[in-house]
Amino acid sequence: MALKHLFQNKCPQCGKGNIFINRNLFSFFQLTKMNIKCPNCNYNFFPENGFYWGAMFVSYGLASLEGLLVILACSWYGNELFDYVNLLIIISFMIILFPLNFRLSRIIWLYIFGNKIKE
Ligand SMILES: [Zn+2]
Repeated sequence: MALKHLFQNKCPQCGKGNIFINRNLFSFFQLTKMNIKCPNCNYNFFPENGFYWGAMFVSYGLASLEGLLVILACSWYGNELFDYVNLLIIISFMIILFPLNFRLSRIIWLYIFGNKIKE
């Protein structure tokens, strides 16, 4: 159930309040806007300064996994494993999936470490 809430941008404690203000992934100017606290249960989404720096590692992992899947799909369709076309396809996917990676990495980080830090 927590996994469902994770992908739905919901609070890790109550599963009802939104973490990001605008749920649309392609709302370019509101992509990074987060609620400071859960509108439903008052759970703190910013437990300490610089809390989301660690989300970079999650983002790196997600991007690596996506790159691997894309290169496997390319080799499935007959491209050489190391090819400039594959590189362009991977870069395109990274750009397209950036909003998803950004949000998902922050949400995953909050789900893992959000309640470990007490105010
Ligand atoms: Zn909540």
